[in-house]
Amino acid sequence: MRPEIKTELPGPKAREVIERDGRYVSPAYTRSYPFVMGRGQGSWVWDIDGNRFLDMTAGIAVTTTGHSHPEIVRVISEQASKFLHMAGADFYYENQTLLAEKLAEIAPGAKNRRVFFANSGTEANEAALKLARYHTKRPIYLAFYRAFHGRSFGSLSLTASKAVQRRYYAPMVPQVVHIPFPDPYRPPFGIPAEKLTDTIIDFIENTVFKTVAPPEDVAAFIVEPIQGEGGYVVPPSDFYPKLYDLLKKYDILFIDDEVQAGMGRTGKMFAIEHFGVIPDVLTVAKGIASGLPLGAAIAKTSLMNWEPGSHSSTFGGNPVAIAAALKTIELLENGLVENAEKMGNLLKNGLKEIQKKFEFVGDVRGLGLMIGVDIVKDRETREPDTKLRDRIVYRCFEKGLLVLGAGESVVRWSPSLVITEEEVNVALEIFEDVLKSI
Ligand code: PLP
Repeated sequence: MRPEIKTELPGPKAREVIERDGRYVSPAYTRSYPFVMGRGQGSWVWDIDGNRFLDMTAGIAVTTTGHSHPEIVRVISEQASKFLHMAGADFYYENQTLLAEKLAEIAPGAKNRRVFFANSGTEANEAALKLARYHTKRPIYLAFYRAFHGRSFGSLSLTASKAVQRRYYAPMVPQVVHIPFPDPYRPPFGIPAEKLTDTIIDFIENTVFKTVAPPEDVAAFIVEPIQGEGGYVVPPSDFYPKLYDLLKKYDILFIDDEVQAGMGRTGKMFAIEHFGVIPDVLTVAKGIASGLPLGAAIAKTSLMNWEPGSHSSTFGGNPVAIAAALKTIELLENGLVENAEKMGNLLKNGLKEIQKKFEFVGDVRGLGLMIGVDIVKDRETREPDTKLRDRIVYRCFEKGLLVLGAGESVVRWSPSLVITEEEVNVALEIFEDVLKSI
């Protein structure tokens, strides 16, 4: 199958929706191109004018099992016909217990885990942040520049991705200290590659801890194993183990935000497994329920010892979303994680081949099906070319390939984990044509 564009874009029906949307829907949303969803199946989506696109976004890393996987649709329908809601924080239902057990089993840490259910990534992180403070009684949080942890006030205070996300919202939650991220492609202050890990670790211990954040006052460091919104940046392989050791020296919690990188996307169930670190708290959302809203904070049993009433959520752990999550994990364990690794390698190698042909493709990086293509003005200086990236993303849309941007200059590839070799090849072919034409 290939994309099929039968109308001008946007087509007549799409145009009408977009016009009404402009009048009534919040203008804070960031739409990169005028795609109006009609329906989806697997890696394919049709707009409401019947044009067919190959979806390399998975609705921003959410539809893990592809659009409307028949098994997911079946369990959702079955659960919906039994009950839609019963408030898992006030009553019990078996599937909530089952999913908590399953997450405890698959999260790094040998089952010694308890789970708090939420509806989204930001809520999962709020739970993790509150738990860290509750448990340690310490006020300070550490996070990275370019990190994205969400948009509610707590998680936004940790987010340091783009100024527009914070502008006019101050004051934030106090006592957050940001640390330069060890980005191997654009290292902070030009630190040489071989010194990147040690320089940042040393900076935390000998500057941050000795000046603005005494370690006895630091509750937690929250990290994304691979920076997502910041541009799909993978830190050096020895970085997280060394950071973990440093944090343990001072009894500081390691919170692993797997909202974007988790649930099999990187070729392992959780991205932190690539680094061999066992986090104290791990958060998930996005891909966990194949498109239904669900988030979870998974913490060490001894850590998640807060008293009844100290945190809760009416909708968190919705039974329909939980049914979808149980099935999603089953599908992940039965081949999709493996497929993410295999197809990810194919896609990354293909993109690396394309990189050789175009000077403005500065970097191709990522793990599994979390791949970033960095568009630059100059390969030497690595200066980001945001405008060209945006044009590429738009031109891909016009050619029937849905991709999105990340960071300042990255084309983000985050397809569903059901993607096939044939679909990867179609995507690569269109992408190369677009780069030629631009
Ligand atoms: N954490 C990470 C790493 C994310 O990528 C995101 C969303 O992009 C969030 C948290 C926030 O998730 P949500 O939009 O579901 O609140």
